[in-house]
Amino acid sequence: MKNVPLYIAGEFVESQTDQWIDVTDPATNEVIARAPCTTDAEMRRAIDNAGEVFKAWRETPVSERARVMMRYQALLKEHHDEIAEILSSETGKTFEDAKGDVWRGIEVVEHAANIPSLMMGETVENVAREVDTYSYTQPLGVCAGITPFNFPAMIPLWMFPMAIACGNTFILKPSEQDPLTPMKLAELFEQAGAPRGVLQVVHGGKEQVDILLTDPAIKAVSFVGSVPVGRYIYETGTRNMKRVQSFAGAKNHMVVLPDANKDQVVKALVGASVGAAGQRCMAISVAVFVGEAQEWIPEVRDALAAAKPGAWNDKSASYGPIISQKAKERVESLITRGEEEGANLLLDGRNCTVDGLPDGNWVGPTLFSGVKTDMDIYKEEIFGPVLSCMEVDTLADAIALVNDSPYGNGTSIFTSSGGAARRYQHEIEVGQVGINVPIPVPLPFFSFTGWKGSFYGDQHAYGKQAVKFYTETKTITARWFSSDAVAETNFSIRMR
Ligand code: NAD
Repeated sequence: MKNVPLYIAGEFVESQTDQWIDVTDPATNEVIARAPCTTDAEMRRAIDNAGEVFKAWRETPVSERARVMMRYQALLKEHHDEIAEILSSETGKTFEDAKGDVWRGIEVVEHAANIPSLMMGETVENVAREVDTYSYTQPLGVCAGITPFNFPAMIPLWMFPMAIACGNTFILKPSEQDPLTPMKLAELFEQAGAPRGVLQVVHGGKEQVDILLTDPAIKAVSFVGSVPVGRYIYETGTRNMKRVQSFAGAKNHMVVLPDANKDQVVKALVGASVGAAGQRCMAISVAVFVGEAQEWIPEVRDALAAAKPGAWNDKSASYGPIISQKAKERVESLITRGEEEGANLLLDGRNCTVDGLPDGNWVGPTLFSGVKTDMDIYKEEIFGPVLSCMEVDTLADAIALVNDSPYGNGTSIFTSSGGAARRYQHEIEVGQVGINVPIPVPLPFFSFTGWKGSFYGDQHAYGKQAVKFYTETKTITARWFSSDAVAETNFSIRMR
């Protein structure tokens, strides 16, 4: 069994702590590693070193910082499958899914390699006679990132490459449930030529996070995780006068109109609801069938019934296990609750087994119809392979239903009507909208723009917004007198 190291001041070191958290393989529940609860002294060292290193890193030319990202994205591609295998071993994700997790992170690093043009400021000449105004974007200092278990490659890569390319140093506190993938990312970052201490990785839970949220040396905090923790991070971080972007939980609706392509709807619903065992913040957990589209629910049931969980290297598996026993129990108890609340349980994923892996956290595909907005299975983010179907009469009813949800991460509409799609994209109060695309995650030259209860803050992850988040704007107003230039020229001629 492996003790996960800390990465402090450019060295991979074993923590001196006496408190360790088990990292398990969710397909077997065997302990595969232990993550340390970083001590206060180690946290201090990481923060102080990151502050010290910042002084030199902010002076490093932007093109050199970009070159680190160019080398890093190439190295990540070279080690793509190796990272995905580590990721599968600690999350249980299927290999295909794990590769997707790594790839979507690599795309952000490619984007970060464009940092010179992304950091360009603005200029206006002659704002007054012989007065010019121009702005620079400058890094903030030490930034911190706190990441969830469900994308251990992609989400750390949403954060530190953009922050560091902007000239900041960065302290990452990855999820204690799958810290091996982020450590591999850190190792490769060093190999890409990132100076020591530009990135630090610490482990632990609330205690370590609280230090990052309150230490005055930390200027900005990026968080991705559940709703209660997301609110806590935003409130505590901003109370301590930090810039905070906090991405939280979700409940994403797919609206199905009767003029949609039925086969595409069924296929999209299966992949988007049970893919990654439903443990995606952009998973479709609610399908809203409008009018006659309700007749398609039995076909969705049959297609979902064919989806099977299994081991990460089982090519026939549609998805992997739930991350922990506790999380599995929570998903199963919510299914029971849905039954008690009166929803129709069309497919029951409780008591699921997988041959040869009797101790894994398996939950089979689960489908409810007749779900109502006052039911817990509608109100709670289940974060499992559970799809709730709701039935409404009109597009207007569907829009009202989605807009009443406290969450606003993602949504999609399936239709062949441009007018209906246009109306939906315009009226819907959700930050990321897919039209005949079930999971509309924007590529990194845009930003990941969740709304309402799914995001606290204003500048989002990656894209131009991340550059705004990780920099300050300095605006300079300069007056140089042309008449002085003439005098200067005469002066230099005289000197010759
Ligand atoms: P989580 O909130 O339990 O943990 C996230 C991070 O916060 C971890 O690093 C954890 O150690 C830390 N943490 C946990 N409790 C804490 C506390 N009391 N105080 C301070 N820090 C604490 O989330 P998770 O279960 O790892 O991840 C799943 C959640 O993340 C889901 O709700 C999912 O929707 C959400 N998520 C959101 C997005 C998005 O972009 N909106 C993306 C991915 C995941």
